[in-house]
Amino acid sequence: MKHKLLLATRNHGKVIEFQRILEAIAPGEIKLISLDSFPNLGDVEETGSSFQENALLKATQMSKATGLAAIADDSGICIDALGGAPGIYSARWAGVHGNDQANNEKVLDQLKDVTAEERGAHFTCVAALALPDGRTHTEEGRFLGEILNSPMGENGFGYDPIFKPRGFEISCAQMSPEQKDSLSHRGKALRALAPHAIELLNSLR
Ligand code: IMP
Repeated sequence: MKHKLLLATRNHGKVIEFQRILEAIAPGEIKLISLDSFPNLGDVEETGSSFQENALLKATQMSKATGLAAIADDSGICIDALGGAPGIYSARWAGVHGNDQANNEKVLDQLKDVTAEERGAHFTCVAALALPDGRTHTEEGRFLGEILNSPMGENGFGYDPIFKPRGFEISCAQMSPEQKDSLSHRGKALRALAPHAIELLNSLR
């Protein structure tokens, strides 16, 4: 592997996706270092008011703390009928950080009287790279679809079982990993970020 890059997330579902997507984009180029190598590092507080700010906070603070180049994302689901919520609060929408089932149940409950035509939603992902010298780069990806009436499928994580990508009759949690990556917000953001990341990492040597 040419470059070492700290992956600044403790979300297991995201770790799996990052590794898979980056390996497909740039095979053998980037070795991701997990936060498991830094058990004493506390979580970064997501105090920003946008996906962009939170992604940058996570990448820059973890890069500073470790002296490594770091990559992070901030992502979530934005639901039209809820005025764009849960948005940046997606991971803690139902009160407990990362409780996928509670989050999905809360969304379905709030949308129980919303018609099929008004169930539009999208996932957003901002992926951020931060270098130890302070340089940063971010890219955004979006994934359009609708909220289902009940969960379907076992793959993926988070809101995947209640999100139906536009043009498909299956949920994100019924897609193969490769199919999800080819369409997803995280796949798009990382494909846009990768060439810049490799150029910036090369400039460090
Ligand atoms: P973050 O760690 O603050 O970026 O939280 C992102 C949260 O948004 C995740 O814990 C999920 O609840 C949700 N989310 C983001 N991306 C996805 C996805 O690809 N599928 C399902 N849920 C997602």
